[in-house]
Amino acid sequence: MPNIKEAFTVKEHKATDEYHIFKGDFEVDPCNSVNNSICGAMAKSDSKKNIAICLDEVEARKLLAKYGRKVCANCIGYLYKTI
Ligand SMILES: [Zn+2]
Repeated sequence: MPNIKEAFTVKEHKATDEYHIFKGDFEVDPCNSVNNSICGAMAKSDSKKNIAICLDEVEARKLLAKYGRKVCANCIGYLYKTI
């Protein structure tokens, strides 16, 4: 069973235009996200905008497939390793 309480938020880095993934928690309504991206290379304060918020694992994978190379490889690697 997947952990349905884990939420994913995707943010665009203001300097590189690369998308990074932030983990969060659905127990907070609607969801929250931690201060640093999964890969550790981006902080919330580096965000230009949110690409998507409060995704579950399935939605996150669809979004990664859609955006492909725009998304940080390290963040993607983590997501596929843990799901
Ligand atoms: Zn990243």
